[in-house]
Amino acid sequence: MRLEIRGLTKRFGSFTANDQIDLVVEPGEIHCLLGENGAGKSTLMNMLYGLYTPTEGEILLDGEPVTFAGPGDALAAGIGMVHQHFMLVPVFTVAENLMLGHEQTRGLGVLNRAAARKQVRELSDRYNLAVDPDALVEDIPVGVQQRVEIIKALAGDAKILILDEPTAVLTPQEIDELMGIMRELKAQGTSIIFITHKLREVKAIGDKISVIRRGKVVGTAPPTASEAELAELMVGRSVQLTVDK
Ligand code: ADP
Ligand code: MG
Ligand code: MG
Repeated sequence: MRLEIRGLTKRFGSFTANDQIDLVVEPGEIHCLLGENGAGKSTLMNMLYGLYTPTEGEILLDGEPVTFAGPGDALAAGIGMVHQHFMLVPVFTVAENLMLGHEQTRGLGVLNRAAARKQVRELSDRYNLAVDPDALVEDIPVGVQQRVEIIKALAGDAKILILDEPTAVLTPQEIDELMGIMRELKAQGTSIIFITHKLREVKAIGDKISVIRRGKVVGTAPPTASEAELAELMVGRSVQLTVDK
């Protein structure tokens, strides 16, 4: 699915958190969104996921303008999101968490246990996630908990997956595994918006890299852009990344 954002703006009172943002994510593309803390990345994603209402501007999916009253609408339109902080109930199993998400976020009514277990198994097999539907969430490592969130986000048949700073909580090995999962999702046609402020990660998986600074998209670069160029876009001035002694 092709996502196009036109002139999207979000104000909180007199403060403009997102200012006339234009962005295109092509089908099956990994589009990295890079920016310092407070740049406005999560605000933009919250509008795409129906959590914030845009002050101005448009979101188009395959050329059609869409408006979302809440996450249920975004999921129904094919946009799933993995938040910075997980929304899992630790004392429940993976399948039970899927059942809960289904009921709460989507208002789709009760998903039965057998269907939830089957859905976890199918998505886990399809994307090599190694998630056991019957494991208690509190017993599994953070990297696997994140894959449960990915399963929850994909369970509504998402065509676009948003991950908001997914590597912040991961070990280096878990980051490598996540990169592999992103490549597998892309290979099967899912578009991905991958948010981070780490240059190394965007260079590892990005097809395109857009930089957001003080609420504006200040540039979109190919992954071949140098770290110095990207860092300059991020902070608005040239930076010296290495120190000569
Ligand atoms: P990032 O994800 O890039 O770190 P955010 O989108 O979370 O940045 O925040 C961008 C700016 O918008 C910050 O200054 C933040 O304080 C402000 N902001 C975000 N959400 C709200 C809100 N609900 N109310 C008021 N200000 C907000
Ligand atoms: Mg932040
Ligand atoms: Mg954020």
